[in-house]
Amino acid sequence: MKLSNPTLFHEHALINNTWQSAKSANTIDVFNPFNDEKIGTIPDLSADEVAEAIGFADDAQKSWASLTANERAVILHRWADLIDEHREDLAIIMTTEQGKPLKESRGEIGYANSFIRFFADEAKRAYGDVIPSPNANLRYVVLKQPVGVCASITPWNFPSAMITRKVAPALASGCVMIVKPDSQTPFSALALGELAIQAGIPKGVLQIVTGQADVIGGVLTSDERIKKLSFTGSTRVGKLLMEQCASTVKKLSLELGGNAPFIVFDDADIDKAVKGAIASKYRNAGQTCVCANRIYVHQTIKDEFIAKFTKEVSNLHVGDGLSDDTDIGCLINDTAVQKTQKLLQDALDKGATLITGGKSHPTHARCFLPTVITDITDEMDIAHEEIFAPIAPIFVFDDEQEVIRHANNTPYGLASYFYTRSHARAWRVSEALEYGMVAQNTGLLSTEVAPFGGVKQSGFGREGSKYGLDEYLTTKYWCMDVS
Ligand code: NAP
Repeated sequence: MKLSNPTLFHEHALINNTWQSAKSANTIDVFNPFNDEKIGTIPDLSADEVAEAIGFADDAQKSWASLTANERAVILHRWADLIDEHREDLAIIMTTEQGKPLKESRGEIGYANSFIRFFADEAKRAYGDVIPSPNANLRYVVLKQPVGVCASITPWNFPSAMITRKVAPALASGCVMIVKPDSQTPFSALALGELAIQAGIPKGVLQIVTGQADVIGGVLTSDERIKKLSFTGSTRVGKLLMEQCASTVKKLSLELGGNAPFIVFDDADIDKAVKGAIASKYRNAGQTCVCANRIYVHQTIKDEFIAKFTKEVSNLHVGDGLSDDTDIGCLINDTAVQKTQKLLQDALDKGATLITGGKSHPTHARCFLPTVITDITDEMDIAHEEIFAPIAPIFVFDDEQEVIRHANNTPYGLASYFYTRSHARAWRVSEALEYGMVAQNTGLLSTEVAPFGGVKQSGFGREGSKYGLDEYLTTKYWCMDVS
């Protein structure tokens, strides 16, 4: 990696503001998913070493919470300034370990930083309440206080933003945080840690632990000193962590898998819908939890939509994320490629029609070509599973009730999209979609100022906005007799 500031690259865990190896000296290798070159190693910490980090966090909790929101905001803004300053290096680290195009990595660093700046200021507005009393002698007050020591476990698809979405509201509201990043993309997290130290975030307030997921997860979910766990990742692991947290009754936020419907009604602006579908489907090579997973197009406009969509898809350039002209990088690993091929083959075997793509890049096996398939039926696995790859399955529908029924026919409920010019339909559809987020006439909905999160098996809790701050605050009711 050619970094302007090589000190951002750390191969150690960040514990109590020192960079540490595992006492066992055991490590985990990290590879560039595009070319399989080894990037470096991270410590494989033991359960005891993670417990030690929890001790440092516990020690730091009181003094961090005793700072004013303004004092914490000054430190967080300093961190954000440093992230802005090192944006290009952070983007290079991200693309090298994750594979997404550099322009997307730069965008993610900006997006990640937007949470730090937003929450630094939002915590100044963590208002409580004074409740009008029905009794002359009693007064009722509600105080908002930090939850305490928090932990987070994050995925590889957004190696920086999934961290700051949790760390920023936690730190801003007076909680300390231990982060376990994904073992495939740890260096983005560790670089953020380096900048956090430089910004003056005190010892024990932000720690980054690396190692075996089940070992670290076991400690973070069972230790009584941890008061809250925030997890982003698969529904399978989310359910496991929820079970593990039960014994200590931890507060939980779960941002899990999705299966987003993308509905184009007959009165839609088709060009706008095509643009939105490209952005929603192919960003991060289709590896986002809010990616359009099922594209439903009204019967009367399907030919025009498919023709225009396929033309746009053919302009997307696939390859090395570090090249300036790359629009779609590689998938994260071989398992992801195999799953993509299996889903596609199952659909083709059951009668789907391949319009474009359908295979890996001729010289880069992990780069899957953007693919469009039609004639999709409910019997196909692709109609139900989260694809997490650049395949766009296009379904055709006839009426509004039918498409809503299909759209809701999934255990997931994260993001959903629809295109219409009708105001009345917009209300009907927005209310009927069983999703935590609904986007109308746009393919991109994530922002730090709005509540991101799901319903059903996509999880619970919100990230971003004032609702995201609430996840790190407790509500204390204070009743006083003033007679
Ligand atoms: P994953 O397997 O659940 O991994 C996510 C994180 O969980 C990683 O840090 C992983 O660590 C850790 N983990 C795995 N097994 C664990 C265990 N037994 N105990 C504790 N931690 C464990 O998910 P993924 O396949 O990498 O990520 C893709 C999924 O995340 C998709 O379903 C996607 O929709 C979802 N996602 C959701 C959102 C959202 O906001 N709703 C955002 C992004 C992604 P190791 O890497 O070290 O194994």
